[in-house]
Amino acid sequence: MKPGPFDYIAPTTLPEALRLLGDPERDTKVLAGGQSLIPMLNMRLARPELLVDITRIAELNRLDVGADGALRIGAAVRQSAVAADPMVRARWPLLAAAVEQIGHPQIRNRGTVCGSLVHHDPAAELPAAAVALDARFTVARAAGRRSIAAEEFFLSTFATDVEPEDIVVETLVPPLPAGTGWAFRELAQRRGDFAAVGLAVLLRADGVAVDSARIVYCGVGSTPIRVREAEGTLLGREFGQAAMADAARAASTVLDPPGDLHASAQWRREAAAVLLVRTLTEAWERRA
Ligand SMILES: Cc1cc2nc3c(=O)[nH]c(=O)nc-3n(C[C@H](O)[C@H](O)[C@H](O)COP(=O)(O)OP(=O)(O)OC[C@H]3O[C@@H](n4cnc5c(N)ncnc54)[C@H](O)[C@@H]3O)c2cc1C
Repeated sequence: MKPGPFDYIAPTTLPEALRLLGDPERDTKVLAGGQSLIPMLNMRLARPELLVDITRIAELNRLDVGADGALRIGAAVRQSAVAADPMVRARWPLLAAAVEQIGHPQIRNRGTVCGSLVHHDPAAELPAAAVALDARFTVARAAGRRSIAAEEFFLSTFATDVEPEDIVVETLVPPLPAGTGWAFRELAQRRGDFAAVGLAVLLRADGVAVDSARIVYCGVGSTPIRVREAEGTLLGREFGQAAMADAARAASTVLDPPGDLHASAQWRREAAAVLLVRTLTEAWERRA
């Protein structure tokens, strides 16, 4: 299939990109890695008049750590660059693990982290990882900037708190407290597919008792789902089979996953519980 006609501009400065996107006379769209947008154009699910390619803007190509210790991922930074970065692997290993579950190397070599987060396929790995890691997004438009927490950013399937005139210029990921155990796991029909059920877990303990837990699923709803009820069953308690069984029970009670061609709702609910025990176990073993 072929896309409808469109103009293409690749500005080299952020103000120029924001000026183009802010034009009320034109139906514009940001182009990042193109791994979701180009198929949508080809299928004519999107028919913008102008694509604004943001990948030539030098300041959006930064992958570094700010003065506050947060990882800063610019909008043009490719998924593969994040997963391969030694600093990310050492200090934000959950993020690297989630990226590695995305599609195949060819996709990750083009796709951007910010693009995946804005696109927000509810089965995508990165939105769940972003919520687990308490990430924030800096969103720019010609009139100024705002900062949004990941927990408020994902509105529903393919919908985020971003307007056509906006660019998510960076994703900020705070440092993980020392001693945090982590794990990201998913169940998919084939290696490289989107998750039928995916799960990000962060876990900390004071001795044998859990003092902090974050449990965030993808693929089981229209947004990433943080299951505070399951987290609550673990807090202040000795970690082990009994605690995990209670957490798994809480998750299957709370979750109301959809059924589709890939998996029934019942399968997803049961898989979510099984996955939770495996992922918690792995995170616990990794805590320092
Ligand atoms: C075969 C295949 C398999 C895939 N498998 C997976 C998978 O298993 N898991 C997974 O999570 N993803 C998967 N993907 C999607 C991939 O991760 C995409 O790269 C990602 O969803 C979009 O990132 P992008 O940089 O390519 O964005 P684009 O395709 O360029 O843009 C996607 C959307 O986001 C908007 N956008 C992009 N960046 C910004 C920004 N900075 N600010 C504002 N708006 C922006 C665009 O306007 C567009 O609407 C797959 C893709 C393909 C083709």
